[in-house]
Amino acid sequence: MRCPHCTSTDTHVTDTTREASGGIRRRRECKQCKKRFSTVERMADHTPMIVKRGGRRELFDREKVMVGVKVACAKRPVSAPAMERLVEDIEAQIVALNKSEVPARTIGDKVLAGLRELDEVAYIRYAIVYLNLKDLESVKAEIEKLLGER
Ligand SMILES: [Zn+2]
Repeated sequence: MRCPHCTSTDTHVTDTTREASGGIRRRRECKQCKKRFSTVERMADHTPMIVKRGGRRELFDREKVMVGVKVACAKRPVSAPAMERLVEDIEAQIVALNKSEVPARTIGDKVLAGLRELDEVAYIRYAIVYLNLKDLESVKAEIEKLLGER
């Protein structure tokens, strides 16, 4: 997303709301010139509801996905734009499914696959939480699986 003031692509989303029309309005802030602007995305008409494990449904929240990615990538050599791209990619893939509902699992799996490409340590961190790896043995098994598939 390009800043309309300085054309920098280094912007971040500060707030996401669904409009009555069905579009998604994002408030963004440019990291270069610090100006704010908002965008309304029509493709978001097709953004599916996310079905959580307990059956609860909620809007796809890219910020929530981003928080998980950021935690996994803390102190790792993964740039902020790379993380933004990963989350934007995942959102685009979710929209491309063209379904009204998508299980939360689908998103978790895509985050895992994306992190695996970006940074293996971040991948393992995310896997520990997301795959609910409960002990060192299961973490070790996951690492060995990763090493074995190299
Ligand atoms: Zn700007």
